[in-house]
Amino acid sequence: MQLASLTIPEIRAQLLSRAISAVELTEQALRFAEAENPKTNAYLHFCPERALEKARAVDARIAGGEEPGALAGVPVAVKDVILAQGLRMTCASRLLEHFVAPYDATAVTRLEQAGGIIIGKTNCDEFAMGSSNENSAFGPVRNPVAPDRVPGGSSGGSAAAVAQGTAVVSLGSDTGGSIRQPASFCGVVGVTPTYGRVSRYGLAAFASSLDHIGPLARSVHDAAVLLQVIAGRDEADATSAFAPLPDCTAELTAPVAGMKLGLPREYFNGLSSEVGGVIERAVETYRKLGCEITWISLPATAYAVACYYIICTAEASSNLARYDGVRYTTRSESAETLSDLYRNTRGEGFGAECKRRVMLGTYVLSAGYYDAYYLKAQKVRTLIARDFASAFQQVDAILAPVSPFPAFKLGEKLDDPMAMYLSDIYTITGSLAGIPCMSVPCGTTGDGLPVGLQIMAPHFEEARMLRLAAAYERAE
Ligand code: GLN
Repeated sequence: MQLASLTIPEIRAQLLSRAISAVELTEQALRFAEAENPKTNAYLHFCPERALEKARAVDARIAGGEEPGALAGVPVAVKDVILAQGLRMTCASRLLEHFVAPYDATAVTRLEQAGGIIIGKTNCDEFAMGSSNENSAFGPVRNPVAPDRVPGGSSGGSAAAVAQGTAVVSLGSDTGGSIRQPASFCGVVGVTPTYGRVSRYGLAAFASSLDHIGPLARSVHDAAVLLQVIAGRDEADATSAFAPLPDCTAELTAPVAGMKLGLPREYFNGLSSEVGGVIERAVETYRKLGCEITWISLPATAYAVACYYIICTAEASSNLARYDGVRYTTRSESAETLSDLYRNTRGEGFGAECKRRVMLGTYVLSAGYYDAYYLKAQKVRTLIARDFASAFQQVDAILAPVSPFPAFKLGEKLDDPMAMYLSDIYTITGSLAGIPCMSVPCGTTGDGLPVGLQIMAPHFEEARMLRLAAAYERAE
């Protein structure tokens, strides 16, 4: 069985026809993933016992003639910022190197109830802060398509695992682009749902008003199946939405002719000509599918990077205060007093990017600066959301690039945090507005580096967004 190209429907067919058992498939997947991992460092740890226990349960359901679930037997990789009870959850930080999750995230519970098999936890930027996966305390991830390049970040391991074929689908988290950008860099599908669509319960908090959990997959259909399973109201997360997700997979084959799609002018300046060319060809495909393409304007885009890095660092400085050496974390050995314990634990445990963000966030929240920075950024956030709201009066969805350039070389931007922050320009706007956005592979540059097309839709219109992505995928 070709694990590297399996899809969810193929696995289902194989299991139901008894061509393979879930236990056999899981054993193969684990062996394959462990053997391939040294090439990319996509996984931080594997969980064979848990995986095989869940696989046995799937086999028992099939043997008993029961419906085994939408993800029955599907090998899934989970970003290591999401809790799975009894497994370590490190957030790719030294500080949490030995932390064992006391409970399951809601997304984990739901995907396992649907028969999904978690085979391991994936590498990422420390506490999901970064755009290249180079901020991991446990080494960077290599892009499976071009091993001297980054896989994108922060969900670099989750994207690499799917691109490499060691998992069929994976869970990532997105605060300002961390699902879409690595999906784009590795040539896979990545979906950031509407804020509140998927429960954040059990996701280590980075910037709570921006954090999302979402799926990565090799096909739009597989991403839709995983989204369908994990979405929906959860009592344990007060910000999770009541609106039920309509059946996205059923709508994937619906026609898109007649849809009005907007191209934001502001997103096409400063784009590398290579990426621009690939995106233009993708737009042409939609025209051929019968969509009407128009230019639109999102004028507040120019302020998005500044706005995002004020809000996300403010929230991060508060969320990361809990890692104090008393609870959760590896404790500094060298402390004599309580304040030393805090200072040394955090000083020794956090990497440079986390420290930078805690300092920046504390600064923008401090008396005297709050009004000038944080409050102003909140107002700008409203303007960005209004830009989208008025654009969606004119168009059904928006097409845009995901990133100004394709995967860059390892180390290339590491010493220049500003360059790294600026590369998030096209993804953070959607995050600030809380709308659903996704990346769908739309071709490669001359060097064979994948480029993602971003599709953005109004709040709670994931089904429309996925339908557009599926139409493109079929047309290619
Ligand atoms: N690259 C962005 C950042 O560094 C986004 C990260 C994310 O979405 N988790 O904050």
